[in-house]
Amino acid sequence: MENNSYTIELYDLEENDHILINRATEIIQKSYSQEHGNKVSCALMTADGKIFEGISIQRGTVTNCAEAGAISSMTIDDPNNKIELIVAVRGKNQSVIPPCGICRELLLTTCPEAYAIVKICDNKTNYNDDNNCNEEQMLKKVKHNPIYKKIKIKSLLPYPYLSTHSKVVLT
Ligand SMILES: [Zn+2]
Repeated sequence: MENNSYTIELYDLEENDHILINRATEIIQKSYSQEHGNKVSCALMTADGKIFEGISIQRGTVTNCAEAGAISSMTIDDPNNKIELIVAVRGKNQSVIPPCGICRELLLTTCPEAYAIVKICDNKTNYNDDNNCNEEQMLKKVKHNPIYKKIKIKSLLPYPYLSTHSKVVLT
Protein backbone atom coordinates (compact mmCIF):
# COMPACT_ATOMS: atom_id res chain seq x y z
CA MET A 1 0.00 0.00 0.00
CA GLU A 2 1.30 3.43 -0.89
CA ASN A 3 2.03 5.70 2.05
CA ASN A 4 0.81 9.22 1.39
CA SER A 5 2.15 10.96 4.48
CA TYR A 6 0.73 14.22 5.75
CA THR A 7 3.23 16.75 7.06
CA ILE A 8 2.27 19.32 9.65
CA GLU A 9 4.45 22.39 9.76
CA LEU A 10 5.09 24.23 13.01
CA TYR A 11 6.43 27.77 13.13
CA ASP A 12 8.37 29.62 15.84
CA LEU A 13 6.64 32.36 17.75
CA GLU A 14 7.74 35.93 17.22
CA GLU A 15 8.23 38.19 20.20
CA ASN A 16 4.91 39.97 19.68
CA ASP A 17 3.01 36.66 19.68
CA HIS A 18 3.62 36.26 23.41
CA ILE A 19 1.36 39.28 23.96
CA LEU A 20 -1.61 37.08 23.03
CA ILE A 21 -0.65 34.31 25.46
CA ASN A 22 -0.24 36.90 28.20
CA ARG A 23 -3.59 38.51 27.37
CA ALA A 24 -5.46 35.17 27.43
CA THR A 25 -3.69 34.22 30.66
CA GLU A 26 -4.75 37.50 32.30
CA ILE A 27 -8.37 36.87 31.31
CA ILE A 28 -8.52 33.38 32.81
CA GLN A 29 -6.70 34.53 35.95
CA LYS A 30 -9.31 37.26 36.41
CA SER A 31 -12.45 35.43 35.30
CA TYR A 32 -11.96 31.70 35.99
CA SER A 33 -15.15 30.28 37.48
CA GLN A 34 -15.96 26.60 37.82
CA GLU A 35 -19.54 27.55 38.71
CA HIS A 36 -20.18 29.54 35.52
CA GLY A 37 -18.09 27.35 33.25
CA ASN A 38 -15.57 30.11 32.62
CA LYS A 39 -12.74 27.64 32.25
CA VAL A 40 -11.04 28.65 28.99
CA SER A 41 -10.05 32.08 27.73
CA CYS A 42 -9.07 33.15 24.24
CA ALA A 43 -7.28 36.07 22.64
CA LEU A 44 -6.98 36.64 18.93
CA MET A 45 -5.06 39.17 16.88
CA THR A 46 -6.37 40.45 13.57
CA ALA A 47 -4.39 41.21 10.44
CA ASP A 48 -4.57 44.91 11.35
CA GLY A 49 -3.19 44.31 14.85
CA LYS A 50 -6.37 44.51 16.94
CA ILE A 51 -6.86 42.10 19.84
CA PHE A 52 -10.21 40.54 20.75
CA GLU A 53 -10.97 38.37 23.75
CA GLY A 54 -13.42 35.67 24.74
CA ILE A 55 -14.15 33.30 27.59
CA SER A 56 -15.98 29.97 27.63
CA ILE A 57 -19.47 29.82 29.10
CA GLN A 58 -21.18 26.68 30.30
CA ARG A 59 -24.87 26.57 31.16
CA GLY A 60 -26.40 23.17 31.79
CA THR A 61 -25.36 20.96 28.91
CA VAL A 62 -24.51 23.91 26.64
CA THR A 63 -20.93 25.08 26.27
CA ASN A 64 -19.91 28.09 24.25
CA CYS A 65 -16.19 28.08 23.54
CA ALA A 66 -13.91 31.02 24.26
CA GLU A 67 -12.84 31.14 20.61
CA ALA A 68 -16.45 31.71 19.52
CA GLY A 69 -16.69 34.64 21.95
CA ALA A 70 -13.51 36.24 20.59
CA ILE A 71 -14.64 35.77 16.98
CA SER A 72 -18.01 37.26 17.88
CA SER A 73 -16.34 40.37 19.34
CA MET A 74 -14.15 40.72 16.24
CA THR A 75 -17.22 40.44 14.01
CA ILE A 76 -19.06 43.20 15.88
CA ASP A 77 -16.07 45.49 15.30
CA ASP A 78 -15.59 44.58 11.64
CA PRO A 79 -17.24 41.55 9.99
CA ASN A 80 -14.62 41.56 7.23
CA ASN A 81 -11.60 41.52 9.51
CA LYS A 82 -9.25 38.54 9.34
CA ILE A 83 -7.72 36.55 12.17
CA GLU A 84 -3.93 36.44 12.11
CA LEU A 85 -3.27 34.47 15.29
CA ILE A 86 -5.37 32.90 18.06
CA VAL A 87 -4.65 31.24 21.38
CA ALA A 88 -6.72 29.58 24.09
CA VAL A 89 -5.66 29.15 27.73
CA ARG A 90 -7.34 26.72 30.10
CA GLY A 91 -8.05 26.78 33.77
CA LYS A 92 -6.22 27.72 36.91
CA ASN A 93 -3.04 26.14 35.54
CA GLN A 94 -3.19 28.64 32.68
CA SER A 95 -2.12 26.09 30.15
CA VAL A 96 -2.21 26.85 26.41
CA ILE A 97 -4.54 24.38 24.69
CA PRO A 98 -5.30 23.76 21.01
CA PRO A 99 -8.79 24.53 19.63
CA CYS A 100 -11.39 21.78 20.20
CA GLY A 101 -12.89 19.96 17.21
CA ILE A 102 -15.84 22.32 16.86
CA CYS A 103 -13.56 25.38 17.03
CA ARG A 104 -11.26 23.88 14.42
CA GLU A 105 -14.23 23.83 12.04
CA LEU A 106 -15.34 27.30 13.16
CA LEU A 107 -11.85 28.71 12.61
CA LEU A 108 -11.35 26.90 9.33
CA THR A 109 -14.56 28.35 7.93
CA THR A 110 -13.70 31.79 9.34
CA CYS A 111 -10.03 32.11 8.46
CA PRO A 112 -8.15 29.01 7.24
CA GLU A 113 -4.89 30.92 6.77
CA ALA A 114 -4.77 32.04 10.42
CA TYR A 115 -2.39 30.49 12.93
CA ALA A 116 -3.13 28.97 16.33
CA ILE A 117 -0.59 28.83 19.14
CA VAL A 118 -0.11 25.31 20.49
CA LYS A 119 1.97 23.95 23.33
CA ILE A 120 4.28 21.15 22.35
CA CYS A 121 4.26 18.69 25.23
CA ASP A 122 5.77 15.59 23.74
CA ASN A 123 8.70 16.83 21.72
CA LYS A 124 11.28 14.74 23.54
CA THR A 125 13.94 15.51 20.96
CA ASN A 126 14.25 18.97 22.47
CA TYR A 127 15.67 17.41 25.60
CA ASN A 128 18.06 14.97 23.99
CA ASP A 129 21.00 17.09 25.05
CA ASP A 130 20.37 16.12 28.67
CA ASN A 131 21.51 12.51 28.94
CA ASN A 132 20.69 12.26 32.62
CA CYS A 133 17.07 13.23 32.11
CA ASN A 134 14.64 10.37 32.70
CA GLU A 135 11.03 10.33 31.50
CA GLU A 136 9.59 11.82 34.69
CA GLN A 137 12.16 14.63 34.82
CA MET A 138 11.66 15.32 31.16
CA LEU A 139 7.88 15.71 31.62
CA LYS A 140 8.51 18.05 34.55
CA LYS A 141 10.77 20.16 32.35
CA VAL A 142 8.15 20.33 29.61
CA LYS A 143 5.58 21.46 32.19
CA HIS A 144 7.81 24.20 33.52
CA ASN A 145 9.42 25.15 30.22
CA PRO A 146 6.62 24.80 27.69
CA ILE A 147 7.52 25.11 24.05
CA TYR A 148 5.04 27.14 22.02
CA LYS A 149 4.69 26.89 18.28
CA LYS A 150 2.31 28.26 15.66
CA ILE A 151 0.33 25.99 13.39
CA LYS A 152 -1.91 26.94 10.47
CA ILE A 153 -5.59 26.42 11.18
CA LYS A 154 -6.03 24.41 8.00
CA SER A 155 -3.32 22.01 9.24
CA LEU A 156 -5.39 21.35 12.37
CA LEU A 157 -8.29 19.99 10.34
CA PRO A 158 -7.08 18.03 7.32
CA TYR A 159 -9.62 16.70 4.81
CA PRO A 160 -12.41 18.91 6.22
CA TYR A 161 -16.09 18.70 5.54
CA LEU A 162 -17.23 21.94 3.93
CA SER A 163 -20.88 22.62 3.24
CA THR A 164 -21.98 23.51 -0.29
CA HIS A 165 -22.52 27.16 0.67
CA SER A 166 -19.09 27.51 2.28
CA LYS A 167 -17.10 30.42 0.93
CA VAL A 168 -13.83 28.91 2.08
CA VAL A 169 -11.35 28.03 -0.65
CA LEU A 170 -8.63 25.69 0.56
CA THR A 171 -5.36 25.71 -1.32
ZN1 LIG B 1 -13.92 24.96 21.16
